Amino acid sequence: MHKEALSDSRGYRGRFAPSPSGPLHFGSLVAALASYLDAKVHQGAWLVRMEDIDTPRVVQGADNAILTALEKFGLHWDEQVEYQSQRHALYQHTLTQLKPDLYACNCTRKMIKQAGGLYQGHCKSLALDFSEHAIRLTQTHPIYQFTDLLQGQVNVPQDLADEDYIVKRRDGLFAYQLVVVVDDIEQKISRVVRGADLLEPTARQISLFKQLGYTVPEYAHVPLAVTEPGFKLSKQNHAPAINIDDPIPELLQALSFLGLSVTDDMKLSNVEEILTWASTQFSLAAIPQVLEKSIKL
Ligand SMILES: [Zn+2]
Repeated sequence: MHKEALSDSRGYRGRFAPSPSGPLHFGSLVAALASYLDAKVHQGAWLVRMEDIDTPRVVQGADNAILTALEKFGLHWDEQVEYQSQRHALYQHTLTQLKPDLYACNCTRKMIKQAGGLYQGHCKSLALDFSEHAIRLTQTHPIYQFTDLLQGQVNVPQDLADEDYIVKRRDGLFAYQLVVVVDDIEQKISRVVRGADLLEPTARQISLFKQLGYTVPEYAHVPLAVTEPGFKLSKQNHAPAINIDDPIPELLQALSFLGLSVTDDMKLSNVEEILTWASTQFSLAAIPQVLEKSIKL
């Protein structure tokens, strides 16, 4: 069953958070549209945040290409675009708050793989030096199940929920799990609408909200666009960029993907009109309750 409109619409704040590692492809357009339309339906704010914390993956200029594409598709954001790369002081401050629950870890990837893929607490009592190692957070608020507005009840394997996960990497970069939660807290995000590829890490993010003492946002994970089962569109597998010079065909395809009844005559319309119409039609309840959905490109 779908749960809808739990949040006070006046306080609705949503966001789209792409990583600037390449241009927007159809899959990221679907995620952007879903979060945008859900915010509009609730008269909420829609923010854009550049998830550029993983600096080795960042492609120069990709942030501007993404913002240009969003504008060409009529997805105008509220407030200023935030960049994770400019928020290190905020993340460091949060780590300081968590200090009593942090410890250093020198396990190699190989060791963890040999232990079955999950870290088993090997370094917890070793009191290793923080400066040269990855930093793990003692899991004090494990989440074994949660409710997704679209996917329903999600059960989390116990050993995954219990794992002390990395919050700062050996190379000194803050871990995605940490920064995404700190950003959502700081930007007062009330509902996260994003692709189902991020369903699994959600439990860990919920646990961090609780560990830091903040209200957990609502989550809705929309189906991933795949070309065939298991093959999601991604920057890593070189999915084609969306065509910013002719946005309407892909805009309509993405709306149809999200369960809206698009018609042929809409091809003659313009982006603004289509989005205005879509903002009155969109409902999470119309989106197929699946993790993946095939498309033809
Ligand atoms: Zn270790």
